[in-house]
Amino acid sequence: KVQSEGGDNITSLSKDDHQNLSTRSVIEKRLLVALNQKDLHVLYQPQRDLDSDGIKTVEALVRWEDQEIGMVPPDILIPIAEETGLINQIGRFILEKACEQAVEWSNQGHNIRVSINTSIREFRDKNMAEAIRKVLQSTGCPAHLLQIEITEKFALEAEAESSIVKQMKQLQAEGVKFSLDDFGTGYASFRYMQLLPLEEFKIDKSFISSVTYQEKTQALVKGMIQFGKSLQMRVVAEGVETEEQEFFLREAGCDAVQGYYISRPTSPIDIENLL
Ligand code: C2E
Ligand code: MG
Ligand code: MG
Ligand code: MG
Repeated sequence: KVQSEGGDNITSLSKDDHQNLSTRSVIEKRLLVALNQKDLHVLYQPQRDLDSDGIKTVEALVRWEDQEIGMVPPDILIPIAEETGLINQIGRFILEKACEQAVEWSNQGHNIRVSINTSIREFRDKNMAEAIRKVLQSTGCPAHLLQIEITEKFALEAEAESSIVKQMKQLQAEGVKFSLDDFGTGYASFRYMQLLPLEEFKIDKSFISSVTYQEKTQALVKGMIQFGKSLQMRVVAEGVETEEQEFFLREAGCDAVQGYYISRPTSPIDIENLL
């Protein structure tokens, strides 16, 4: 079973394969099998809180290794799942796993918030908030241990869909946190910052890779952190791979860092060893 990630090159499918229609239909068929056999896994990537230097949040990331086609990375899996509608089942599976895991850590005395990724298609279901509430109840997971990440694209579309905004606000009122993922990558609109109940954003890793040597990127990242502060939002940097990057972000007042420098996405046991 998938334990943790060794190197960068763990995939057997390339982006070109994804364009290939026959590959797509194979993935679709195998994904149905995987869902039925519960063949999906979740790895957790910790964030280092820069105030306490402790780990208070981990991100749940889906992993799927198929017996026939090998490892299918999320960048290929998720778009296909979104188009076919299988994302609803995947999302549900990850949500349950993440909540169970948060409860297990809580029972061990660790207060760890688990952050899951979601697609807008999941929130187009009018019963999404209720479904989440039910999973929280059935797993015994307190709402404040669950965080939901949405993308800028999601945020932009959700603005115009009142039932999505309503469900997000209900969940927030109950203690669930919302985080804006991949911040700054193309759909930045300040209006949704006003409309959506967001408590955090994650600076996309494309900014972090050059943050220690490119003046423009430094100014951008510092600006984003100030922006977050003035909105009283938590700011997390993604894709932190070096000590220098973490140092820069700490000096700039970033709240937390996530990336290979802290840890790769890994198994719950490895997370416990890090705590
Ligand atoms: P994301 O939510 O922005 O997650 C961060 C991605 O960056 C993860 O890729 C993670 O493994 C990778 N990463 C973490 N640290 C570093 C680093 O230091 N350097 C670099 N280069 N990369 C780093 P992953 O796991 O392949 O996931 C890719 C994307 O797929 C995620 O981006 C997310 O948008 C989506 N995704 C993953 N799991 C799920 C899921 O359960 N549901 C949904 N809807 N989307 C998911
Ligand atoms: Mg994410
Ligand atoms: Mg991201
Ligand atoms: Mg702080």
